[in-house]
Amino acid sequence: MTAAMDITIRKAETSKLNDLNLENLPFGKYFSDHMLEADYENGEWKNVEIKPYQPLLLNPSLSALHYGQAIFEGIKAYKDQNGNAFIFRPQDNFRRFNISAERMQMPSVPEEIFMEGMRKLVELDKNWIPSKHDHSLYIRPFMFSSDDLIGVRPSDTYKFMIILSPTGPYYSAPMRIYVEEKYVRAAPGGVGYAKAAGNYGSAMYATAQAKKLGFDQVLWMDAIHHKNVQECGTMNVFFIIGNKAITPGLEEGTILDGVTRQSTITLLQEMGFTVEERSLSIDEIIEAYKSNQLKEVFGTGTAATISLIKELRYKDFDMKFDVEKWEAAPKLKNWLTDIREGKREDKYHWMQKV
Ligand SMILES: *Cc1c(COP(=O)(O)O)cnc(C)c1O
Repeated sequence: MTAAMDITIRKAETSKLNDLNLENLPFGKYFSDHMLEADYENGEWKNVEIKPYQPLLLNPSLSALHYGQAIFEGIKAYKDQNGNAFIFRPQDNFRRFNISAERMQMPSVPEEIFMEGMRKLVELDKNWIPSKHDHSLYIRPFMFSSDDLIGVRPSDTYKFMIILSPTGPYYSAPMRIYVEEKYVRAAPGGVGYAKAAGNYGSAMYATAQAKKLGFDQVLWMDAIHHKNVQECGTMNVFFIIGNKAITPGLEEGTILDGVTRQSTITLLQEMGFTVEERSLSIDEIIEAYKSNQLKEVFGTGTAATISLIKELRYKDFDMKFDVEKWEAAPKLKNWLTDIREGKREDKYHWMQKV
């Protein structure tokens, strides 16, 4: 695996960029000029190519469509004030991608394809990184099984790809959250810690039910007792209780180990909070709310960075918050954005130059 992998580059003849205004684009709707594609066959990766963004030609028997061996990642690239391109903590996503791959019985992707391929692709489409405040280029690596066979077994062949999508400020208004007691996202022993495609499809029904009731997202609870909080939609969740920040721990394997979560823990500690990664029950949350100790609640993730939660509904009990008065979550969001845009010292070496 140490031998350098050849990455062929075939450039697009014209750029789609000229017809596009990189400001205020909706999330995930527009894609850059190029994509990376690689094939896994006979136990090895080959045909690693960066080429014009284009449709795939696939057989209806493609195994991923039937049995869901499919995983992905989400990463962001930024430009600093001098126009240099940086990617936020890509090594962490690379590591997590192969953890997801192992859980789904898929081959791991070598560093020289994932990391170097991503670097080369972003370098080639560097002009697609918006330079405006709060804008970025979203990087979507993914892998799926590609055998033309509808037998239930791990595929022999796979495709690894990376596509790029310029994105505007992912403004998320403070959210109203429904504490979900019936449907579950992840159970111990399951695939909650993997960024596996099926986790998202299976979450959509409960989310739609909550939306019908006027909520923006659900707060997932543990699968057995329906008492301990897990995640908020597709974000990790933090509760500030007194001078402590509490977020569910990873040990059960039901929580996605978010890169924004890790970064948030580091920055909260820098701000002077004691951070606890442990199980947190809805009863403890309600008690803290009633005694005025529950100060702030927010979600973390690459797409929106930090999303404030202004209301939590558990059964008939409604917890409401005056987010205008919050300090920690807005400060966190600003710190993270400033580090990413090169306006604040990157003392943890999170930004990797392209
Ligand atoms: C991707 C994801 C997160 C956030 O992870 P980041 O690395 O911070 O983007 C949290 N929860 C779920 C379920 C996710 O899929």
